[in-house]
Amino acid sequence: MNQAESALENKQGQLQEKVKKEIEREFDKEFIRLRENTGFSEEYEYFLHILSFQLYPEKFKEYIGKPLAGISCVQMPCELFDASGFHPLRLCSGSFAVQRLSLPHIPALTCPFIKSITGAFYRDESIEKLCDLIVIPSTCDWTVKLPEMTGGKAESIHVLELPHVKESERGVKRWTGEVYELKRILKNYSNKRSFRKHLHISINRYIDAWYALNELIQLKRKKLISPVLSMVVTNAFMLDSVESWTKNVQRIIKMDHHHIDNSRSEIFLAGSPIFFPNMKLARLIEEAGMHIAADELCTSERILTSVPVYDEDSEYGMMKALAESYHLSCSCPVYIDNERRIRNILYTMRTNGIKGVVYHVLKGCHPYDIDSFSFERKMKEEGFRFLKIETDYSKEDRMNILMRLEAFRETL
Ligand code: SF4
Ligand code: SF4
Repeated sequence: MNQAESALENKQGQLQEKVKKEIEREFDKEFIRLRENTGFSEEYEYFLHILSFQLYPEKFKEYIGKPLAGISCVQMPCELFDASGFHPLRLCSGSFAVQRLSLPHIPALTCPFIKSITGAFYRDESIEKLCDLIVIPSTCDWTVKLPEMTGGKAESIHVLELPHVKESERGVKRWTGEVYELKRILKNYSNKRSFRKHLHISINRYIDAWYALNELIQLKRKKLISPVLSMVVTNAFMLDSVESWTKNVQRIIKMDHHHIDNSRSEIFLAGSPIFFPNMKLARLIEEAGMHIAADELCTSERILTSVPVYDEDSEYGMMKALAESYHLSCSCPVYIDNERRIRNILYTMRTNGIKGVVYHVLKGCHPYDIDSFSFERKMKEEGFRFLKIETDYSKEDRMNILMRLEAFRETL
């Protein structure tokens, strides 16, 4: 190694160390804020503990004790991974500090979620790099280019071709084919016998998780738990076994609950996902005196959208039900036919007396940004208030967003 090469290596080592410390600080600051949050109790410590695994990749891998399959989107049937002996893991993507490592490799206007995932692959050590397999559905342009942007640093990547028209016979057929292909790949890794039996067990595990999640959501609707804490719980999904996560959600459900603050105006939070530790928008909404009574975020209420329904527990019956439940119930704007999304949101708002929508757009998230225009029109036609907030993971726009949220609250 010549002098120039060793100087470069030194510099890169220093950058890695600096980013590592900044990520630790980001997590620690958020943990401190959460422990001061209204309604925080000992029952939430479990979720902070498993979220902190993101700081200790090797420890996490050892704790899970199974091959890890990193998934970039909730449209992947977790049951398939579980039944094949994998631990499905949502790629962790809420760190602002880690984005520094992705900057030389991707466009400046990339969606922050993708910036963070890419950055994680350029770290010396990260959970993402320890994954035995990465599975990416081709949802938006950014995810399609993700394999290229990670620069060959992932162990192995499989891309699922997502049909963008989902309610057609052709779309359902294509998606079911993709899910079967995924099963084939997973089975190649694990070689698990009696797949049908394991799939049945896995489906039941996730149904239990779905019920627990729904009870948690009901507490939030009734203003009995803080939306920020609820979002922390859902962000921690997949950082432990599904049974353990469910058991700990049930502990929260069984706690004594008191109304957090009845004077807060209820809103619906729509749009791009919010990833831990970047809880900026959810926290600012609370600071502005509003309560997120319901949301459509794939890191919150939409981590598990529906349960698979099947008459017979043949492998074919279960696979078909899984493919349909993950695909048809996903209300993400990456689809062309998405009438259900607005219908469901309007229904939730009406049945819960919610008067306004805060619409979150992560800068560079084109699907949610494009949809926001027709969404706003529809909401206003139906007599609801609407506020669009476009932001990223930085903190500079905090005060500006807070002022806009406070003004919005006055209109509710
Ligand atoms: S926003 Fe939609 S496409 Fe993106 S991760 Fe969430 S569910 Fe998947
Ligand atoms: S749908 Fe939006 S948030 Fe999700 S990866 Fe694409 S651009 Fe990013």
